[in-house]
Amino acid sequence: MNKIEDLSFDNTYAKLPEVFWERVKPTPFPNPYVVSVNPSAADLLNLDPGEFSRSDFAEYFCGAKLLSGSDPIAMLYSGHQFGHYVPQLGDGRAIMLGEVKNDQGEPWELQLKGAGLTRFSRDGDGRAVLRSTIREYLCGEAMHGLGIPTTRSLCIVAGEEIVLRELPEPGAMLLRMAPSHVRFGSFEVFHYRRQHEYLKLLADYVVDHHYPHVREAENPYARLLHEVAMRTGHMVAQWQAVGWAHGVLNTDNMSILGLTMDYGPFGFMERYDPTFICNHSDHQGRYSFQHQPDIGYWNIRALAQALSVLIDEDALKLAPQLYEQAMLEKYAELMRGKLGLVETHAGDDKLLTDLLNMMDSSRTDYTTFFRTLGAFQQESASANGALRDFFLNRDVFDDWAGRYRERLLAEKSQDAERKVRMDRVNPKYVLRNHLAERAIQLATREKDYSEIDRLLELLSHPFTEQPGMEGYACPAPDDSPQIIVSCSS
Ligand code: AMP
Ligand code: MG
Repeated sequence: MNKIEDLSFDNTYAKLPEVFWERVKPTPFPNPYVVSVNPSAADLLNLDPGEFSRSDFAEYFCGAKLLSGSDPIAMLYSGHQFGHYVPQLGDGRAIMLGEVKNDQGEPWELQLKGAGLTRFSRDGDGRAVLRSTIREYLCGEAMHGLGIPTTRSLCIVAGEEIVLRELPEPGAMLLRMAPSHVRFGSFEVFHYRRQHEYLKLLADYVVDHHYPHVREAENPYARLLHEVAMRTGHMVAQWQAVGWAHGVLNTDNMSILGLTMDYGPFGFMERYDPTFICNHSDHQGRYSFQHQPDIGYWNIRALAQALSVLIDEDALKLAPQLYEQAMLEKYAELMRGKLGLVETHAGDDKLLTDLLNMMDSSRTDYTTFFRTLGAFQQESASANGALRDFFLNRDVFDDWAGRYRERLLAEKSQDAERKVRMDRVNPKYVLRNHLAERAIQLATREKDYSEIDRLLELLSHPFTEQPGMEGYACPAPDDSPQIIVSCSS
């Protein structure tokens, strides 16, 4: 187990030419203190949990003390925001402290989000608010718990600094980690600047460090693009299956590793609603829940365009097709699992579509319904009363339940065995907005951070019934205030 001083850095991205980044020191807060530390992320760095209580832990993770071997940089990128190309974005408030190699030789880039101004800050202040760091911290771990590829988070550090958003709010920094934070926009910037030598250098960097097996392909760059397309397709399918929306699917928020990244105004759907828009500033619904699969396709085309000097026309055209195929196949597989089906039969698509339409009409809670469906009993309609109660139109449900029963019989499904299987794929607990909000209110108003740790623990095991935590599985009470989240979060 490592002490903080023992973390071993190999800052490979900082070895790329200077156009790729700006060397910049974090701007610390006065009087920093630890809000929460995530033991499972620390474990990825082989960081000794005894280190969390060190008096200087917060100083290291708010940039006041430099980690030995760290070489802080802000990364350059551009991207398509809401469909329009923005020539330069870059890390405006996240500073990469460096890349740690853990005992298994795995690379983990450490990024401090909210660490102050960089060359890429544009009109921003380089800061993050405690509210948004808590949301990103918890959701990253919730997604990881659900088995969805994502950036991770090590800790939140706050300090005596007030940050101005719509209202003044306490500032904080989030230490997030990923094997790489390279985005689609990291390639787009060199494509649109016609700096093709840098584009190739970046493609080689990503291949060498993160996709070494594609070197064997006839055109490694084509193979890279195809793998990114497929990973992205799988990731989007997983979002759709758990009922989660990202909220700002600009190409600068799309990871080259197919990780969920840059958590902002995201949301888990409560009542099933395909038109669900979680981002208050997304007036057109470009990034609504139901549009995510198409936006993934659009973004893969943008990445293909950015790589067009390295890849021939046919291979470029194949990328969005591979994305779509991967997304649809994965989604079908995941939804089959959510219904507890093992085999694939004709009519399964209709069974699912009819269910979703029914849920839409009744505004059924997405997570709770699927969790409850695990207890469906084939031989006793009266035992399925709890499921029936999810729907306003009981007759329509009864008809669907009859067809579902027939379908289960057709593959000789056993109730008890199926429930075990379904409980492993239908989560009991997701990060509902009101749960995050309660942790945020306690943290900001009372400096009580216990709810953050409680949620972190709960959401790390979303499929496991946890005694005494029943309330955390419930939808927001009807009278709970509407929570508004937007890009500026
Ligand atoms: P996002 O919508 O959070 O992905 O951010 C889009 C761009 O705006 C990125 O280049 C961010 O680094 C930058 N940005 C967002 N918030 C701030 C801020 N408070 N200060 C500086 N830059 C920011
Ligand atoms: Mg971003």
